[in-house]
Amino acid sequence: MKYFPVFFDIQDKRCLVVGGGDVAARKVSLMFRAGARVVVVSPQLCESLQVRVANGDIEHHARDFVDSDLDACALIVAATDDQAVNKRVSDLAHSKCVPVNVVDQPALCSFIVPSIIDRSPVQVAVSTGGASPVLARLLRARLETLIPAAYGRLAALMDEFRGKVKKHLADEGKRRRFWEDVAQGPIAEMVFAGKEEAAREAMHTAVDEARAADGDRGEVYLVGAGPGDPDLLTFRALRLLQQADVIVYDRLVSSEILDMARRDADLVYVGKERDKHTLPQEDINLLLARLAKKGKRVLRLKGGDPFIFGRGGEEIETLMQEGVNFQIVPGITAAAGAASYAGIPLTHRDHAQSVTFVTGHLKDGTMNLNWPALAQPHQTLVVYMGLLGVKTLCAKLVEHGLPGDTPMALVQKATTREQKVLVGTLDSMPAQLDATTIKPPTLIIVGHVVSLHEKLSWFGAASTVG
Ligand code: SAH
Repeated sequence: MKYFPVFFDIQDKRCLVVGGGDVAARKVSLMFRAGARVVVVSPQLCESLQVRVANGDIEHHARDFVDSDLDACALIVAATDDQAVNKRVSDLAHSKCVPVNVVDQPALCSFIVPSIIDRSPVQVAVSTGGASPVLARLLRARLETLIPAAYGRLAALMDEFRGKVKKHLADEGKRRRFWEDVAQGPIAEMVFAGKEEAAREAMHTAVDEARAADGDRGEVYLVGAGPGDPDLLTFRALRLLQQADVIVYDRLVSSEILDMARRDADLVYVGKERDKHTLPQEDINLLLARLAKKGKRVLRLKGGDPFIFGRGGEEIETLMQEGVNFQIVPGITAAAGAASYAGIPLTHRDHAQSVTFVTGHLKDGTMNLNWPALAQPHQTLVVYMGLLGVKTLCAKLVEHGLPGDTPMALVQKATTREQKVLVGTLDSMPAQLDATTIKPPTLIIVGHVVSLHEKLSWFGAASTVG
């Protein structure tokens, strides 16, 4: 992070604005709204500032800046068009450790002012660290449309009940869950619909009910994280990520996706690198059940889809046996992600009428698959976990009747910025692979649909063709 975001309390504090133009006026408005005692130093004032002075909103000194203006200030903004003055204000403020902002000159600032969405007491501040004010503005506009105007009233109502809830719901987890239900349930809807009295009554009832309810029941969410690009998460996955207490994840889950989890959630890594099983599957199953029984909301995050080569079924079986509640959220499986991002449709009227997903995981150096069924024309074969067995795969398919010139592709780290596509044939691929480095996770696609890649490729780096 380039900046540390904070919200300043400047209520009744003396804040200095040096400069009297329109830019200064905008900053004065903001500070005034936050309750500051604003002092403006400037020989001249623009019209809106003159009105403020006339209203008695702000104090004005009609002269040039002098060093002593800085005395007893909580915050300073310099907005003159005189570089030398701006610099002097900045230097002085820095030397006295008073926070200073020089409008549009990040180098002279000790803080920058974000774009804000104001639903007081709810405020959202957006910053691009000065990189692009336009982007910050666009984001702000989007957020404005996302956050109901009544959010401020909802927050005020929640604030009103804080003491009562704290008193009656001693357990922190229980309290958090209570508030989440309030913010996402019928009480919030009542506030948004302007029925505040009804919402207030419902709050009283809800607190009583929550107090009476017996111990917390945990839950497990088995969630597919998709192939890597965080944009491919489902809305539900995102929502659950932001409310889970514990996140149990493995190697395929990208750090960008983990970043979307609730800040104070516990992250538990259970590994699963090829042949380096960090935690045996049985232990993972039991871990999930144990955490849920402690009342935790546990999110088991898996790459792709949990039910496609994800052993999600086994985890769920244990939860069933242990009587733990769960829900399952599908994800975009690697085959779907790789196919789209590599421009290789898995089925196509002219090339393939069916698609088969298999695992190419080697057991004792061999791949135990139904070769005659796989070596059929007009179908697409997708191989998960097959990188180590590429040579065996190519040889076996040819041995069982597929022509050696059948196209195939390896898609490395599909949907991410490290995506790489290696295109060849059953005959050529083993040698091609020796000549390049392809890193896991990699998906293998075999079949005539691969020939469409040349035309339909649209994402990331150009492919390597042999
Ligand atoms: N449940 C996952 C698959 C887990 S098996 C899913 O539905 O996608 C792990 C295998 O998935 C890897 O060996 C690789 O073959 C494939 N895989 C997962 N993510 C991938 C990605 N981003 N790019 C290419 N292959 C991927």
